[in-house]
Amino acid sequence: MGRVFLIQYDLTPDSEFFLCRFCQAHIARLDKINSEAIFLSKANVLIDGPERYRIEEADVVANVHCTGCNALLGIKYIEVQNNDGLVEAESFKLHLNNLLWWDGNVFHSYPNQIQAHRLVTAHDDGI
Ligand SMILES: [Zn+2]
Repeated sequence: MGRVFLIQYDLTPDSEFFLCRFCQAHIARLDKINSEAIFLSKANVLIDGPERYRIEEADVVANVHCTGCNALLGIKYIEVQNNDGLVEAESFKLHLNNLLWWDGNVFHSYPNQIQAHRLVTAHDDGI
């Protein structure tokens, strides 16, 4: 098996992103926050294919894994039944316990002020 190439974000004061808690692969970069959700660009994640899709609370979802160590990092919504706007198809829900956060200064667990947001989404930016 070939060497896995991982995308690296810059550890600079103007960048904020999630890392895998287990192998420190860079997972998703912050694009913007509003009162409803956090919008991210994803990097080093693997998404299960259609043969492994499953139903979770009536929605079709796929597991999302770290490219670096294969840890389970969350789910991607493939098809959403409930159209209440809280969850959209193609969005992601990340398991924050399995992630660390670079806040532009230090690494730490996900900050409390952001935990009030009910959903973390990550769009596919073509990576
Ligand atoms: Zn990892």
